[in-house]
Amino acid sequence: MSTVITDPQLSSVVSRIRPSATAAIADAARRMAAEGRSVISLSTGELDFDTPEHIQQAAIDAMRQGHTRYTSVSGTTALKQAIIGKFQRDNGLGYTPDQVIASTGAKQIIFNALLATLEPGDEVIFVAPYWVSYPEMVLLTGASPVVVMPGPVDDFKLTAQSLAGALTANTRWLLLNSPGNPSGALYSAEELQALGEVLKGYPRVLVMSDDIYEPIVFEGRFASFAQAVPELYDRTLTINGVSKSHAMTGWRLGYAGGPQWLIKGIELLQSQSTTNPSSISQAGAVAALNGPQDFIAYWCERLRARRDHALAVFASARPLLNVACPPAAFYLYVECGALIGKRTATGEVIASDVDLCRYLLESGGVAVVPGTAFGLAPYFRVSYTVSDEDLATACQRIVDACRALV
Ligand code: PLP
Repeated sequence: MSTVITDPQLSSVVSRIRPSATAAIADAARRMAAEGRSVISLSTGELDFDTPEHIQQAAIDAMRQGHTRYTSVSGTTALKQAIIGKFQRDNGLGYTPDQVIASTGAKQIIFNALLATLEPGDEVIFVAPYWVSYPEMVLLTGASPVVVMPGPVDDFKLTAQSLAGALTANTRWLLLNSPGNPSGALYSAEELQALGEVLKGYPRVLVMSDDIYEPIVFEGRFASFAQAVPELYDRTLTINGVSKSHAMTGWRLGYAGGPQWLIKGIELLQSQSTTNPSSISQAGAVAALNGPQDFIAYWCERLRARRDHALAVFASARPLLNVACPPAAFYLYVECGALIGKRTATGEVIASDVDLCRYLLESGGVAVVPGTAFGLAPYFRVSYTVSDEDLATACQRIVDACRALV
């Protein structure tokens, strides 16, 4: 697992955080593949589909038409209008141009929003399993993560009761991620309203609704927090992006809507660090948000078939592996407690999910990410974003390798 970097030449800020475990696993898998070994990576959080043709064409046209210069820091007028249109159309949320911003990935907005608002001593609540960057970003600002562990009985979701138990006078943010990475959890509008009721008693708390997986839903209905709890619209930052919805992770384009004072703070940080997101990617995002969305339903059908196949293979390995059917996103979060303490054919003890993932990579040729990285062990995360054939091979290899442990 990734450990803290302690080079004395580096600042104390760097020593507060750990490198991304998902990136580390993906790198190890790439290294093995470069050595000519058969490796299937189920470790990265991105679709294997190509960015749709009309989006690629819009970016090519933008380059050819000379849209290759700085834009305004928070995004072009065309992109801001497209973002405003998207929030209105899909979420019933009304924003003005000074309430939205485009950045280099949703990741940049999340970080800048935290940096713009947190002081040492402030607390930020989120659930485990969490997206690997949440705790590290909070630590970078000097504030403290407060991690709630709802567990599989609550479908890994925060309840009103657990939220009430975690809130203190120091709480500054609640980070909500639905559909969730890595759990695939989806909050209903009613569940969000129950959380909203609790938050009404805490006027200092801001809510970040990280909706980056919004359209990847198989069962149930997506609801964005500010839409479900309009009374808290004024203290909600709604985060989204084209990375997952339109297979555009490499384009690095995320966006958000929220209160004007907060967007202004985020923009100020962006203006003195990275300036505008790529002008070419912005043109692509305009086409993504304003253009046809029907292909997403087709992608979801293919993803659902993959999810169901992977679930069936893992079910054959019960009780060594246990996984519930996630209603959304493109991950399975697989419980592997029965394997902890077992030995490999060469006598090595599997002492943790980190050891198990190392073993699955080295002996099974499959890269998955240990639950430890997401704050809830012993589990591993499977991204089912490879071809049907590779997914079938990889899941069978995982099961065979787990059965070979003694
Ligand atoms: N939020 C969650 C929960 C994610 O899983 C990711 C990416 O993996 C992001 C935000 C960031 O997305 P991006 O920076 O690609 O827009």
